[in-house]
Amino acid sequence: MNVLLVSMPFGALDRPALGMSILKAELAEADIACEARYLNLVCAELVGCDEYHWISTELPYTAFAGDWTFTAALYGPKPQSEAGYVEEILKRTWQFEERDIARILRIRALVPHFLDYCMETVRWDDYQVVGFTSTFEQNIASLALAKRIKAKHPAVNIVFGGANWEGEMGIALHGAFDFVDYVCSGEADVSFPELVRRIRDGCSVGERRNPLRGIVYRSKGRSLFTGPPAPVHDLDAHPIPDFSDYFSALDRSSATTVVTPVLVCETSRGCWWGAKSHCTFCGLNGNTMAFRRKSPARALEEISHLTNTLLAQFIQFVDNILDMKYFDTVLAELARRRLPTRFFYEVKANLNRRHVERLAEAGVCRIQPGIESMSDRILKLMRKGTTALRNIQLLKWCKEFGIEADWNVLYGFPGETRGDYSRMLELLRAIRFLGPPSGCGPLRLDRFSPYHSKPQDFGIRDVRPLVVYRYLYPGDEQSLGKIAYHFDFGYSREVDPGGCFDAVVKFVDEWRRNPEAGALRSVAQDAESLLLVDTRSDACAPEFRLTGPEKAIYEYCDELRSVLVIGQFLAKAYPDVAFDEDGLIAFLESLIENHLMVSDGTHYLSLAVRSRRIGSATSPAVATARGDVPSSAKDGQLVEAIN
Ligand code: SF4
Repeated sequence: MNVLLVSMPFGALDRPALGMSILKAELAEADIACEARYLNLVCAELVGCDEYHWISTELPYTAFAGDWTFTAALYGPKPQSEAGYVEEILKRTWQFEERDIARILRIRALVPHFLDYCMETVRWDDYQVVGFTSTFEQNIASLALAKRIKAKHPAVNIVFGGANWEGEMGIALHGAFDFVDYVCSGEADVSFPELVRRIRDGCSVGERRNPLRGIVYRSKGRSLFTGPPAPVHDLDAHPIPDFSDYFSALDRSSATTVVTPVLVCETSRGCWWGAKSHCTFCGLNGNTMAFRRKSPARALEEISHLTNTLLAQFIQFVDNILDMKYFDTVLAELARRRLPTRFFYEVKANLNRRHVERLAEAGVCRIQPGIESMSDRILKLMRKGTTALRNIQLLKWCKEFGIEADWNVLYGFPGETRGDYSRMLELLRAIRFLGPPSGCGPLRLDRFSPYHSKPQDFGIRDVRPLVVYRYLYPGDEQSLGKIAYHFDFGYSREVDPGGCFDAVVKFVDEWRRNPEAGALRSVAQDAESLLLVDTRSDACAPEFRLTGPEKAIYEYCDELRSVLVIGQFLAKAYPDVAFDEDGLIAFLESLIENHLMVSDGTHYLSLAVRSRRIGSATSPAVATARGDVPSSAKDGQLVEAIN
């Protein structure tokens, strides 16, 4: 039994396909020969790595330009539809310039050569099973090649899997493309090897007494689904992914000169937050939100494999959300090992200071926190389980510990109001120096999200597949609705946000084009005084010196605190001094007026990023994060209201 797994354009060039690498390892354990082919690298060589990179990562992905370049190869020429795509999607929806349209058309013209090359250079009939992994814009290219393989080698079993084929989408696609024999829907760690075994042994997958769960198959011309697979509970029981074919392919490819490979690692599946409170817009995790983690020992074994065997410089964890238990286990051990490797993790935004410090100690240099907004009310609408001030304190601590935070502003949620955005604009102005978000975009309605599954609960109406799907797949709107992952929609009148976010979108756009060059830093000079050094463009003064209780309050509010809690803290720290609440509030408000603090009306948060002393670093990541303390810092002015 020989199995070939294929990654087609426009799969990422700079990393192995994790799903394929897992399945190759699973098949090896079952003594089934398997090879993985990265035909996306071949395509990049043909069209040029720059062009491949441009179309697959720089264009808006809901334009589906990469998928569209393969439509003529799949369906044959359709001049009217092709002209319609260019006019309606590229020109009208996305306002592409003529030279970019010409670039896309040039890539499209090379597609037949690429597919001919694939057909000629691979001995497809050496394999009984050819499996395609399809996520993002890999679908049409994979279908175009699968159609050619099946036409020339009908005995080859064509199997599809990946995020584009989960659930209803997989059943609809299987029905639309009769050269696809099987679909592995959802997690395929168990179902794919068992499917291969049954094909080898001539057993049916749909046997009434022993159906193989998670498979779409054909019976009497009809597409039948055996039902969702059981989620993989014991991740430790499965083998370490085998990335060897990716690195061999990259070594043989001219792309090796321009591609810096990133190693991916999966330490968990699902989302522990989403299992408790599914964020309303989130379509990740398909039908398996339940959180499952690898044991710390297993996670560390995999990391060691990547660092020792594959000499990984940078590891991107693909988990949707970091397991909080890893702080005291996996991350603590990584901190102890002091590896030169750097890591990326997606995290929940409400981490505390110690968590951020631990990330830095462990070598995590980049995170993607689920920030999404700086409005408490909108965060509630999203069910994000964080607040604006918590988001800001995380960004501040990331700055302090030298961790790059990749965050987004999302807008257009049903129920947003102008008030939400005017408050948010104030906060964004105050945190310009912490760095702009990497993205700012409207709410996207995705399959598997609560907004998609229960639109009526949120005042969302008229849900329909994005227009672009008409140019990618056959069928009417109802059929496209079963294949689509992204949807257009409208709002009912009571929750329509209108353009209430316009000013914030404009502000963020300007912020991203002109980031703030200055900084606000706090420098503890001695036990009694704290210097705030403000080099921002809107600084009220270059320096502020705080002493005694004022210093204590500012430092105490490094984490957000309510007036009540600050009062209790002062009473304990200064038992002999009487503080009245009005005076305390006046002081806090004076800090806000001087752009040194922010508040949500209940809590107060100091904004200055603490400068770290040389030698206080606990890891190389922290050492590079050291703040620049101006050696010429002189005594500054006091905040006037304190005097
Ligand atoms: S957005 Fe993130 S935190 Fe929310 S449910 Fe999805 S994966 Fe989980």
